[in-house]
Amino acid sequence: MTEHAPIVIVGTGLSGYSLAREIRKQDKATPIMMVTADDGVSYSKPMLSTGFTKDKDADGLAQASTDAMAEQLGLQLRTFTTVTGIDPEAHELILGDERLKYSKLVLAWGADVIRLSIDGDGQEHVFSINDLLDYRAFRKARAGGRRVAIMGAGLIGCEFANDLRNGGYEVDVIAPSEAVMPGLLPGAAADAVQAELENLGVRFHLETVVERINRAGDGVSLTLANGETVDADLVISAVGLHPRIGLAEAAGIETGRGIVVNRALETSARDIYAMGDCAEVDGHVLLYVLPLMACARALAKTLTGERTEVSYGTMPVMIKTPCCPAAVCPPPPEADGRWEVEQDGTDVKALFLNGNGEILGFAVTGRFAVEKQALSKEVPPIHG
Ligand code: FAD
Repeated sequence: MTEHAPIVIVGTGLSGYSLAREIRKQDKATPIMMVTADDGVSYSKPMLSTGFTKDKDADGLAQASTDAMAEQLGLQLRTFTTVTGIDPEAHELILGDERLKYSKLVLAWGADVIRLSIDGDGQEHVFSINDLLDYRAFRKARAGGRRVAIMGAGLIGCEFANDLRNGGYEVDVIAPSEAVMPGLLPGAAADAVQAELENLGVRFHLETVVERINRAGDGVSLTLANGETVDADLVISAVGLHPRIGLAEAAGIETGRGIVVNRALETSARDIYAMGDCAEVDGHVLLYVLPLMACARALAKTLTGERTEVSYGTMPVMIKTPCCPAAVCPPPPEADGRWEVEQDGTDVKALFLNGNGEILGFAVTGRFAVEKQALSKEVPPIHG
């Protein structure tokens, strides 16, 4: 009898909790069960790359305990419970040996970090930081260490580089790209962020990769493909994420780069929805907070009786590199146009213009960063 079963939300990240909060704004009574593989502590993931600057450890970044969340939201919460399968026909989640009935199921189970397979015996010094538990483990491991090597010069790698420098660490960043944040920032803006990070003391090793990580004393020695070696106490791997699609795929649910959903967040299986880092919404995989908040608002309405499609507006990404504040609103991947750049040192304003001179995207750094709100109003929304 699935109509008496709860709405089940898998995942207690920003997606899961935002959705539960939005549902409770509309409906206080419908039973909700949340299931999570982690401890269910509520926290804001973007804050993970600000912990050293703000001098906050994992406890300092935690916002509310599991019990407090369950009480506040009037729901049941199961922690350290890993979903191992979905049976869409039976409307059941599989939790190892147990089955859990749902009336509606929401997959908000995020993305997996990409793990590189690198030779050497120093792997226990390598950390990925994609949730509060990872962050706790990293903070614990760093005791005594002052040198951190970061693999990856994307948004997360650059944010951690800035944050760790602010915390007094020696930081080396190694990445195969020519510039930082490839695919996100146009050249001039990327160069500006890199220059300010270098002024802060971050050492970049670009256009190369880590080939080997060997133990050396209490730390490790990284051998790079270009012949250099970098000594570090700890290594952060920040080489990307891929949406968690495996269990959905195994259950016969359509997947692409993420779990495929339409603008009503409906998967190809009846009564199963997906949102957040695991979802590909109407062709868009956007691993950021603003899209998931918009999805939470729309999906809450759908789940409480009013089928609602999400509409993405303009979604600028703020880059938390305080040494060079930056914001970007990338143009659509297929857009035809050119970057027009105004620059004064590391203050950059880059506008992506189409043939009619309309702004389709922008990147701003330094003193131009304050223009992000005004520019966002000029860029067409993602869902026009
Ligand atoms: P997650 O937070 O990953 O939650 C997934 C949940 O699913 C977890 O509770 C997990 O335990 C659970 N789960 C997974 N698998 C299972 C399973 N099989 N069974 C049960 N439970 C399961 N975005 C921005 O917009 N701005 C920023 O400044 C920004 N900064 C960031 C900084 C860092 C360091 C990182 C890592 C990300 C940042 N992001 C930022 C991205 C943003 O934080 C994410 O897009 C967002 O938090 C994803 O939330 P989510 O709930 O979809 O996934």
